[in-house]
Amino acid sequence: MSKIQSINPWNGKVIKEFAPLSPGEIETKLELSESTFQSWKRIPVSERASLIKRAGEILRKNKEEYARLITLEMGKIIRESRAEVEKCAWACDYYAEHAEEFLSPERIKLPDGKKAKIIHQPLGAILAVMPWNFPFWQVFRFAAPTLTAGNVGILKHASNVPQCALAIESIFREAGFPEGVFQSFLIDSKATLSLLEDDRVKAVSLTGSEKAGAAVSGSAGKNIKKSLLELGGSDPFIVLADADIPLAAETAVKARMVNFGQSCIAAKRFIIEESVYEEFLKLFTENIIQLKSGDPMEESSDYACMARPDLASELYEQIEKSVELGAKIHLGGQKPIKGSAEFIPTILSDIPEGSPAYSEELFGPVATFFKVKNATEAIRIANATEFGLAASIWTSDLKKGETLAGEIESGAVFLNAMVASQPALPFGGIKKSGFGRELGRQGILEFVNAKTVYLG
Ligand code: NAP
Repeated sequence: MSKIQSINPWNGKVIKEFAPLSPGEIETKLELSESTFQSWKRIPVSERASLIKRAGEILRKNKEEYARLITLEMGKIIRESRAEVEKCAWACDYYAEHAEEFLSPERIKLPDGKKAKIIHQPLGAILAVMPWNFPFWQVFRFAAPTLTAGNVGILKHASNVPQCALAIESIFREAGFPEGVFQSFLIDSKATLSLLEDDRVKAVSLTGSEKAGAAVSGSAGKNIKKSLLELGGSDPFIVLADADIPLAAETAVKARMVNFGQSCIAAKRFIIEESVYEEFLKLFTENIIQLKSGDPMEESSDYACMARPDLASELYEQIEKSVELGAKIHLGGQKPIKGSAEFIPTILSDIPEGSPAYSEELFGPVATFFKVKNATEAIRIANATEFGLAASIWTSDLKKGETLAGEIESGAVFLNAMVASQPALPFGGIKKSGFGRELGRQGILEFVNAKTVYLG
């Protein structure tokens, strides 16, 4: 099996290499997972909550160290890496505060006067297959609720962020979690699928591409195990004529450029009512041009590079094909240098149906623009995608906004704001964006046995 490499995408240098776990090492870790679960599940929720709170404190204490690691491994600018670490601590605090309430038994009075209750019990070892784009956040939004509910976690992180995976494991150790409650497995995809064949692994949560989601949830299904999928998105950002256009344009650039466009909930398709289209496009372009590129470790950089050179070339291929089919380049559009992860922010318009820019997820700094006659056409285009993660609608008429929100096929709609996750709000998609919810009360109840106890 080939080595797992940690490579700095900004300069292409190999930082560290790791040998993947051997079958024997995997077995030892699985045994530890299973034996730890037997005691961990009996620890009171309040104690587990104190430990997750402590994990949040460690995240804050070592924020700079973790932020630098994130930036080093996947090229995110340092300011965004710090914000990511802070957000993880926020999720820890949230579940430390609410886990007991969320997991408390639900009492039911039956029509015949009898009573029953629903208790929430952990399932066991839950596998987390995670992506590189928010290498700390994706893991903590899984781990904070799942471990506090009494499960144990096994992390198979993306192969380009092994140091982040190990750092996260050490946070739980330092916080005082018993050894085995959270383990990082440095393994490849094949070994990941084998884990789902093992009886000691009870369920899986995957955040990543459709392809990975289909493989992992297919294997889980074959083994009658639950899966939760957080997959791609092609989120619409709808601007109606009555919106605050300068504010919408300023927010739109942030929503597209967050994490250099490599976010599932980044706004990707800008659907603008025709009377304000030119004004919006002009302001959007001006705002994007002002952003400064540079070393991701520099405080002054607004963006740096993509997480890997192959991601930059794949994104360019999607642009190239779309242009061949008739899309127009309004800004950028240059081919990345071979072997480099740098990418020029790009704006496309006149996108023909059937082109990659119309139907596929553009996972990088490429904005696609659509001019529409009215709100009805905006909703039609917004829903003309296989994805259904989230959407943003801009209008000064909140009542109209709420009605339109009901028409959007997605897991979330944000009015007059960019889409962003936060611990109290359930997060997840429909259609090919996946199923199940993370965060909020729903998130902690995904991996529990809601057991009915009839009190005869
Ligand atoms: P990816 O290639 O699908 O990888 C995600 C994880 O799945 C990695 O750990 C990867 O391991 C693993 N994996 C890939 N193929 C697998 C297989 N056949 N069997 C088992 N495991 C497999 O996705 P990515 O490039 O890291 O992330 C980008 C995608 O994630 C985008 O589509 C984005 O929209 C989506 N995403 C969704 C959300 C959400 O919340 N909905 C959030 C963030 C990202 P290796 O690295 O070893 O291949």
